[in-house]
Amino acid sequence: MPIARVALDLPLSRLFDYRVADDSALTVGVRLLVPFGKREKIGVLVELATASKIAPEQLKEAVRIEDDLPPLPPEFFRLCEFAAQYYQTTLGEAIHQALPPALKKTRPAIRRATKKREVATPLPQPVKPELNAEQANAVALIAAARGFQPFLLYGVTGSGKTEVYLRLLENVLAEGLQVLLLAPEINLTPQLETRIQTHFPGVPLVMLHSGLTEAAREKAWRAAFLGEAGIVVGTRLAVFTPMPYLGLIIVDEEHDLSYKQQEGMRYSARDLAIYRASLGKMPIVLGSATPSLESWAHAQHGRYRLVTLLERAVSSARLPVVRMLDTRKVRLEEGLCPSLIEALRQRLEKGEQSLIFLNRRGYAPVLACPACAWISHCSRCAANLVVHLEDKRLRCHHCALETKIPLACPACGNRDIQPFGRGTQRIEAALAGQFPGARVLRVDRDSARSRKQWETILTRIHAGEVDILVGTQMLAKGHDFPRLTLVGVVGADAALFAADWRAPERLFAQLMQVAGRAGRADLPGEVLIQSEYPEHPLYNALTAHDYTGYAKALLEERRQAGFPPYAYQAMLRAEAPRMAMALAFIRDAVACANAGDYPGLSLFDAVPMRLSRLMNMERAQLLIESPSRAELQAFLAKWREILETMPRPRQLRWHLEVDPLEV
Ligand code: ADP
Ligand code: ZN
Ligand code: ZN
Repeated sequence: MPIARVALDLPLSRLFDYRVADDSALTVGVRLLVPFGKREKIGVLVELATASKIAPEQLKEAVRIEDDLPPLPPEFFRLCEFAAQYYQTTLGEAIHQALPPALKKTRPAIRRATKKREVATPLPQPVKPELNAEQANAVALIAAARGFQPFLLYGVTGSGKTEVYLRLLENVLAEGLQVLLLAPEINLTPQLETRIQTHFPGVPLVMLHSGLTEAAREKAWRAAFLGEAGIVVGTRLAVFTPMPYLGLIIVDEEHDLSYKQQEGMRYSARDLAIYRASLGKMPIVLGSATPSLESWAHAQHGRYRLVTLLERAVSSARLPVVRMLDTRKVRLEEGLCPSLIEALRQRLEKGEQSLIFLNRRGYAPVLACPACAWISHCSRCAANLVVHLEDKRLRCHHCALETKIPLACPACGNRDIQPFGRGTQRIEAALAGQFPGARVLRVDRDSARSRKQWETILTRIHAGEVDILVGTQMLAKGHDFPRLTLVGVVGADAALFAADWRAPERLFAQLMQVAGRAGRADLPGEVLIQSEYPEHPLYNALTAHDYTGYAKALLEERRQAGFPPYAYQAMLRAEAPRMAMALAFIRDAVACANAGDYPGLSLFDAVPMRLSRLMNMERAQLLIESPSRAELQAFLAKWREILETMPRPRQLRWHLEVDPLEV
C-alpha cells in the first residue's frame, strides 16, 4: 500500500506520512483530510512513497481524499518548492499561502462538474482607439515572443500601457489561452476590471484578492484552476493560482511595494511571476512608468527586453509642467504656499479639479503639551499616536490602539495641548476654510475604508462632484481623472533624508505617479511641489520628467555603495518582550552561523529595528549581504536549519526575510 506524504500547514520542514485505505484516486496534488493530534486537517499530497520511517502500526490513516477538484498540477508544486527554498520557508507553508483559505478547511465537499475552456465567441467589439506607433510597436514586439521572455514595458504616465495589455490579451485569448494580470492593490481594480470587461465582453474574467469573501475567492480560484476563466486579475496572492492554459503574465505597476508579502513566507509576487513564466515557457510583461531599480538594471543588462512608450497616448495630452515652490521664502498658510493657494483658486474659477497630495493620514502626527513636553505616545509601540480630529480619537497607525483625545495634558493637567504637524484631515480643514464654496474630498485609508466607499469616491470624482481632492498615495496611481489639471505636493521633503536608503527611489516613483494624474486629457496639467530643498537632485529629475537619468544616478550610487541590485540581502529579525533578549538571540545565531565558510558574505551588527517596539514586542534585526545570490542562498539554507534547532526563550519569535525592501 503506498504511503501518502502530506504537506500540512505547519512551521515544520518535514512532510507527514499517512496510510490511505482506498488508494484508487491517490495521486500527487490531491488534498487529503488527515488526523492530526486531536483534530483533523486538510493537507496536500506531495509525494507517494513505498516506505515510511514511521512503524506501520503507528502510521495513521487518512480520513478521505477531497476529490472535488482535479489534483494540483506539477507546475504548482514546482513554484511552491522554489518559493519555499528561495524565501527560506517550508513547502507546507508555501503551499498554505498559495491556496485560498476555503480549500484548506474541513467541510463537506462540494462537487462541481469541470468544464473545458471554450474559446470566446466573438461578441460585438467595443470601440477601440487606434494604437499610436509606439504602442503598436510594443504590441508587435511582445506578441512575437515565443517561450520565456521577460519584457519591461517602461511607459510614462498616460502613455497607454493598459491599452497595450488589452491588445496582448486579445492575441493570447484568441489562441484559447489564459492570461494572469497582477495589479498592486484592490483599490485599483474596479477601474481595471471594468476596462478589461468592456474590452472583452464575452470572456469570463475573475478577480482574486484578499478583500473577497472566502467563498467568492474560492469560486474565482476554481474558475481559474479549471480553465474556465480566460482572464485572472489579482493582487500578489494570485501569482500562485494554477491555470492550465496560462499563456501570458502581466505585472502592472511592477515597482509597487504591495507585491511584497510582509508576513509568513515573505515573497515578492513580481519575482515569483518571473520564475513562473520561465517554468511555463511564456512571455511576461512588467509594466511601469517608474520601474524598480532592480528591473531597470535587468533591462540595462539585457536580461529583460526593454520596450518604451515615451509619448502620452491621447495626442493632445502633454506631460504636466512640474515646478518647485520654495517654502523658505514665503509665509505658509496652514502649511500651504500662497502660490499654491492661488493656483487652486484659478482652477476653481475654471471649474477644473485639483489634487493635494500628502502621504500622511490623520489630522496631525502627534498631540503635544507645550507646558511639560508630554507627547501622545503609543503604550505598545515605539511610535506616536496620531490625532484624528474627525472622530476625536488618538490612534496608533501601527497597532490600531486608540483612545479619546484628552481634554487636558495627562501629565500636568494643562488644558492647552496642541496637535503638531499636518495630515490629510488638517489640509482638508484648511482648504475648506480657505475656499468655503469648494467641494473638498479627502481620500485616504480612513475615508475609503471599504471597497464600496472607494467606489463611491471614484464615482463622485468622475461625475465632477469634487473640486479639490486631498489624498495619500491611494490617489497616486493608476487613475485617470480627465478634469484634473493641478497637483500640489506637500510634506514630501521628509523622505529625502530618511534612514531607509530606498526612500528616495520610492519618493521619486510616488511623485512621478501623482504628477502623472495631472493633465491627462486635453487640459494641460501643472504640478507644484512645496519644498525647503528645491535644488535637490531628486526634484531636478522630477521637474525634467527624467526617470532614466535619475535611475542611472541612483544605480551608480548603489553600485558604488555595494547595495542591491549589486548585492543580495537578507534580514534575520527577532521579536521578544525585551530588546536584550531579541539582540541576544541574534548574536547567538551569528555565533553559530559558520559565516567564515562564505568568503563574500557580510553579517552586520544586530540592531534594534526602526520601529523598535510593536504591540509590546521589542524588535531587532541583522542584515546579511553577499555579492552572490547563490552564496547567500547556500548560507541561508544551512543557517536556517541551525536556527530552527537553536534553543530560544518561549516568547521569542524570529524570521528570515530574503530581498527585504524595508531596512
Ligand atoms: P497608462 O496605463 O500608461 O497610464 P492608459 O492605458 O490608462 O495609460 O491610457 C491613458 C489614456 O489614454 C486612457 O484614457 C486611454 O483610453 C487613452 N488611450 C490609450 N491609448 C490610446 C490611443 N492609442 N489613442 C487614443 N487614446 C488612447
Ligand atoms: Zn503637560
Ligand atoms: Zn501602537
